[in-house]
Amino acid sequence: MLKLPEKSLALGTTRNIMREIFEYGKLRSAEVGAENVFDYSLGNPSVPAPLCVNDMINELLSGNEASSIHAYTSAQGDLRNREALASSLMRRFGGNVSPSDIYFTVGAAASLTCTFHGLTVEGDEYVLLAPFFSEYKVFIEGAGGKIVVTPPNFENFMPDFKAIENAINENTKGIVINSPNNPSGVVYDEETIKELASLLDKKSKEYNHPIFLITDEPYRELVFEGVKAPWVPSFYDNTIVCYSYSKSLSIPGERIGYIFVPETVEDHDKVYASICGAGRKLGFVNAPALFQRVAALCDGETADVSVYEHNAKLLYSSLTKMGFECIKPGGTFYLLIKAPIPDANEFCLKAREFDLLIVPTDSFMCPGYVRIAHCVPTERIERSMQAFEKLAKYYFQS
Ligand code: PLP
Repeated sequence: MLKLPEKSLALGTTRNIMREIFEYGKLRSAEVGAENVFDYSLGNPSVPAPLCVNDMINELLSGNEASSIHAYTSAQGDLRNREALASSLMRRFGGNVSPSDIYFTVGAAASLTCTFHGLTVEGDEYVLLAPFFSEYKVFIEGAGGKIVVTPPNFENFMPDFKAIENAINENTKGIVINSPNNPSGVVYDEETIKELASLLDKKSKEYNHPIFLITDEPYRELVFEGVKAPWVPSFYDNTIVCYSYSKSLSIPGERIGYIFVPETVEDHDKVYASICGAGRKLGFVNAPALFQRVAALCDGETADVSVYEHNAKLLYSSLTKMGFECIKPGGTFYLLIKAPIPDANEFCLKAREFDLLIVPTDSFMCPGYVRIAHCVPTERIERSMQAFEKLAKYYFQS
């Protein structure tokens, strides 16, 4: 009888809830027409990539290097690309960045996976701050680590420092933050990062080993006017940045991102080497050559992310007026709302009756809430208001 690894089989035979709702949306669209289905399930950017992306692709494909642009690169990324990215990061955020601190990856999912595989030894634990991207659990457990979940401060969805302090122990290898946050849209301010850094410094000393601050930043540039996402390595030495261009450049299907291991990380060279080794173990070989070049040269550019701010404001004000409790976002293209009944799954099924496809955040370890991924054309949001009105009427006026 064929024996297969149970964990892989289980992951391959269950879909995550967002995908499941997205698939339902496709079937429903075939029945009633796509224009009548308001699919807010997936974080697939709707605004086109900035001009620099296509210009750079055309230039690279028609220029002198056309014959070599599709070749294998160094495993950590072509040196020229790492040099260009290092210069861009120094220009944008200050501090020292060298090409030997950078490892190009196949997007944030790979940045995180390589980091966890590069750091984790038996018994290691990672503190996660709910609500969090559900794949963290898969990535950490896949690397042999254990997750320890802490709740947010439900007033504002900022970290609950008491809970984090209680969660840290001698087995804690790291803590993962994601700001701007999927699914809450909340952005941690400088005070919050400083408080976290000071707690981690204290705990690293107490347990006599570094506790890594792994900062997952695919939404770094998706911040609204007046909001700033602090550069975490400026505040904590043992930070590892896991970045992706999926959202900032609107190129999630191209699979490109990087890991930045700052020179301040304890045992920097070993940590960096272990992350590179993890990439080798996992068979990544190298990140796509063409997109390494495009990303390095377009670093800091963004698609027109002002659309997301407009969408967020429209949804926030309209849904609040209708009676829904919404978490005020500072960035991303997600809006988190509190389900008006304890079971957010039941609420989402009711929303489905009005062809509103929204996602319960139970798998983000945040039951009772619902995520609206509003990276869709504004005109679709406007048309969906009548469906939200019907949903509000059902809960608040019946
Ligand atoms: N981390 C968070 C918080 C995300 O929301 C996502 C994707 O939506 C990822 C990581 C994975 O991003 P990528 O497409 O770059 O692998």
